[in-house]
Amino acid sequence: MIRALEEAFERPFTVQETQLRLSFSLGVAFAPADGMDAEELLNKADTAMYSSKGSGRNNFGFFTPSMEEQIRRRLLLEKQLQNAVLSQAFTLHYQPRVESISGRIIGLEVLLRWESPESGFIPPDRFIPILEETGWIKEVGRWILYTACRTAASWQNQGIAPLRVWVNISGRQFMEPDFFSMVEKVLAETGLHPRYLGLELTESVLMQNVEGHIDKMKQLKHLGLRLSLDDFGTGYSSLAYLKRFPIDEIKIDRSFVDGVLHDENDTAIVLTILGMARSLDLRVVGEGVETDAQRHFLENNLCHEMQGYLFSKPLPVQEISDLLLSQARLGQRK
Ligand code: C2E
Ligand code: MG
Ligand code: MG
Repeated sequence: MIRALEEAFERPFTVQETQLRLSFSLGVAFAPADGMDAEELLNKADTAMYSSKGSGRNNFGFFTPSMEEQIRRRLLLEKQLQNAVLSQAFTLHYQPRVESISGRIIGLEVLLRWESPESGFIPPDRFIPILEETGWIKEVGRWILYTACRTAASWQNQGIAPLRVWVNISGRQFMEPDFFSMVEKVLAETGLHPRYLGLELTESVLMQNVEGHIDKMKQLKHLGLRLSLDDFGTGYSSLAYLKRFPIDEIKIDRSFVDGVLHDENDTAIVLTILGMARSLDLRVVGEGVETDAQRHFLENNLCHEMQGYLFSKPLPVQEISDLLLSQARLGQRK
């Protein structure tokens, strides 16, 4: 029965001469194990359907009692997150990006933080997907960009040497039709020169509508800001697209930097990324640098910038302001 449905959906549907492909998510519940009446069975099948949606589209799943607990926890988190959005309960942390040659902080990555009153600190990897699914990312994303740009502009007014702030942009946010005008407006309102703003995008975002995204990226580049390809190596890592995307740099994912000294595959991947970037004239940033040995490996292989706990953890605004004000030079050779 499920196979028959899958086969039926594999074929495209023709609607007014246009071919459409539909994906589907299916949940299955059985009587009597999962319920005795239609309402209960439908509820359980619904739960199984939401669970299979969560593990990727075009999927099916059978109801299990643990799904109810997962969904209950997810709904609770969603409720707490909604309160956080309404009360603007987020903060931003800033993590230094260090230039390999000079050891100086030349940029900061902006990272979203949420401390739920009920559950404490929740990592962004857990709540950002919910912000995306609910569409709240539009409002929160604008707040992140605005706050980061306003803070960077105020540092410049305090006489701190201009630094570039790098803001992570999620897929749903980048795909908003008014994304470009939102960025333009935020820069105008905060007075930050576009040269001091960078946007970090991931491959999974860009691969969804390549042509449309290339146009949008060109528009953004035309404004004067920088574009970075985050978590490189974890997705498609397509050389053909890399050549076409108007990006300035790629960030080697933390998982490869982690294994660069003891895992032959990671060593090969990092060296390949560095070589490829060099021939495409792209800058490279190594993420998640935690040890001197990793740092030396990247430096010796001409990685331009580094970021990681070795230099500094992401810090709240007051601490990073103090660090910048005291002109601390992180990562200098001793
Ligand atoms: P990302 O953009 O790749 O950010 C780097 C992550 O690595 C951050 O985790 C950072 O705290 C962590 N990190 C940096 N150096 C080290 C290190 O040396 N060791 C280890 N173990 N970790 C290190 P975080 O803050 O938990 O963020 C996770 C992801 O959540 C980010 O990955 C990004 O994809 C997303 N994210 C965070 N803030 C934002 C935001 O403001 N907007 C959007 N759209 N996504 C965000
Ligand atoms: Mg990032
Ligand atoms: Mg990353």
